Amino acid sequence: MTATIIDGRAAAERLRNRVAARAAELARMGTVPGLAVILVGDDPASQVYVSNKTKQAAAAGIRHFDYRLAGDTTTETLVSLIRALNARPDVHGILVQLPLPPHVDTNEVLATIDPAKDVDGFHALNAGRLALGLETTVPCTPLGCLILLRQVHGNLAGMRALVIGRSNIVGKPMAQLLLQNDCTVTIAHSRTRDLPALCREAEIVVAAIGRPRAISGAWLRDGATVIDVGINRIEVDGKTKLVGDVDFDSAKERVGAITPVPGGVGPMTIACLLLNTLNAAIRAANTRVIEPLEASE
Ligand code: NAD
Repeated sequence: MTATIIDGRAAAERLRNRVAARAAELARMGTVPGLAVILVGDDPASQVYVSNKTKQAAAAGIRHFDYRLAGDTTTETLVSLIRALNARPDVHGILVQLPLPPHVDTNEVLATIDPAKDVDGFHALNAGRLALGLETTVPCTPLGCLILLRQVHGNLAGMRALVIGRSNIVGKPMAQLLLQNDCTVTIAHSRTRDLPALCREAEIVVAAIGRPRAISGAWLRDGATVIDVGINRIEVDGKTKLVGDVDFDSAKERVGAITPVPGGVGPMTIACLLLNTLNAAIRAANTRVIEPLEASE
């Protein structure tokens, strides 16, 4: 079997178009969605992510306010900047690009963001609401993965899903979302025994571990749907190449559908950030939010 390649770029474009249309409507009603983006230091990968986010925000009619701060910026400075942004009515979303330098208290910084403006969905209040199944802002990457899975399967009820990775920003919220979608969910991590056996059982595999090509196609179940969140830079013939956590070449001969890297989850993450920012602005303006699955139609 040769797998269907899930086109994350096309799905992200559809979502961005929906966001742009609704942002234009909102602007006509007097509210231009605003996103503050804070980048500390000069990590090249973070700079690329931030500039993609701000470019796409602008293209979707979302105003962005950029804060590029020196690598030695203190926790206190960040906390006072965020407090000031919390108070501004023209800022509906606040994004702090992670990772922050090691001397900064990331938990304190994220906890300072007003949960209503927490467009990354990392605040403890939003994470807790997700765990309780209440309406909340869902972290962008797992939300993008869910949209792709729903495009492939429609209803996920009863499916056996394996999430590999238990980070707060991908693995844990992904597992919560799959559970909310009535999957039977297993979470694997670095201490899990016999990962190949768990993979063989799973109809859905979401890999988010940050290890290049660590999941072999031979482990996967025939016809499974694989969402590869990993973004790993490797050297091939002296050139840098991006690969996922799944060994794409062996997996695509076996599974039913798979996301490529690049061109899978990455574009959806940014489109979901735009959606979360738009919905924060809509809530602030007190009108109807766009539901993620409705937005991706
Ligand atoms: P993380 O380092 O915070 O977490 C990695 C998780 O993987 C941990 O829970 C760990 O227990 C688990 N793990 C590590 N090695 C393992 C192994 N051999 N077997 C099973 N589990 C193992 O990483 P993260 O922030 O969750 O990101 C994971 C990957 O996803 C990275 O490659 C990152 O670059 C990528 N990522 C992509 C996007 C996107 O938009 N596509 C967004 C966020 C993260």
